Amino acid sequence: MDKITVTSPLLPDLQEFHEVLQEIWDSKWITNNGSFHKKLEAALCEYLKVPYISLFTNGTLPLLTALQALRITGEVITTPYSFVATTHSIWWNGCRPVFVDIDPKTGNMDPDRIEAAITPKTTAIMPVHVYGKPCDTARIKEIADKYGLKVIYDAAHAFGVEVNGESILNAGDLSTLCFHATKVYNTIEGGALVMHDAETKKRIDYLKNFGFANEVEVVGPGINSKMDEVRSAYGLLNLKQVDAAIDARHQVAIRYREALRGIKGVTFFDDMPGVRHNYSYFPIFVDAEEYGMTRDELYFKMKDNGVLGRRYFYPLISTFSTYRGLPSASRENLPQAHKMADSVICLPMHHSLNKADIDLTISLIQR
Ligand SMILES: *Cc1c(COP(=O)(O)O)cnc(C)c1O
Repeated sequence: MDKITVTSPLLPDLQEFHEVLQEIWDSKWITNNGSFHKKLEAALCEYLKVPYISLFTNGTLPLLTALQALRITGEVITTPYSFVATTHSIWWNGCRPVFVDIDPKTGNMDPDRIEAAITPKTTAIMPVHVYGKPCDTARIKEIADKYGLKVIYDAAHAFGVEVNGESILNAGDLSTLCFHATKVYNTIEGGALVMHDAETKKRIDYLKNFGFANEVEVVGPGINSKMDEVRSAYGLLNLKQVDAAIDARHQVAIRYREALRGIKGVTFFDDMPGVRHNYSYFPIFVDAEEYGMTRDELYFKMKDNGVLGRRYFYPLISTFSTYRGLPSASRENLPQAHKMADSVICLPMHHSLNKADIDLTISLIQR
């Protein structure tokens, strides 16, 4: 039996990919800000409705580089309910992550809890638009402005998400994207930083190329995180089909919601008014008492029947060995995050699910 996986990569047409590979081979320019790299940056700015973007080799290096670029030190307020790379980037910069609980209505950092976590050492806030659901960016900006803090959004899940026609990626000082194979839009491995002005882009372009400003000048402790021509060309091809992929995901979400609404003990998110969602994930939350089965019992029942949901985000980042000793990592500080992590299953969600896949997934959840 074929397994139904939680995600499946969006792949460009192989023939078209051969053609662009031929172009790259002919040019003999395979990395270092080549023509496909430039074309992909321009195409992404247009598609995402953002002014400036800088491409990276994955979605973790833009997080690291964003903290470097803004010279963040001391403490960074963040969410435990995310992929572990969010907090790791803070740690790798020698900063201390300070966890704030989430709002159970969205899964995002609860803005009402940010102020209580601010100390004289706080320099930045790193929220995540988890599952692509937009954070309350206006409230977060208000707090950041009041205390003089920078805001870096981990927008790895938020490719193409818009609020009232404006890209969510324009919020904050910087936003990071991830183009990993498992995400809505992929360049196999890849990522990006979105910024507001040309000067910041220039600095970040230096930082992702060892800090080189020119042949002889190194302006800072840069890293190597340049996207190559092959992945850039692949990314250009995938961009042509990402809207169709998001539409297909939307149809899956509609089917799931129709079928699952009314099952006692199973809840999920509805669309938010004014938001263009990307349907990157379809999390459900299992209340064991009401549902009559624990989350893990359902998770393994699905797995035994070939439906590979994933418990994103369980365990919480704050429970991993690096972080669990931090005062803000205590269970008492993060009750909502624990509750969500202990009840979540992300159902299979991608552009190529067929009716039989969706029906099987639903039938395993229906009691
Ligand atoms: C996928 C992901 C990343 C990291 O992306 P990579 O490209 O795998 O390094 C960062 N943050 C979040 C929230 C993610 O889901």
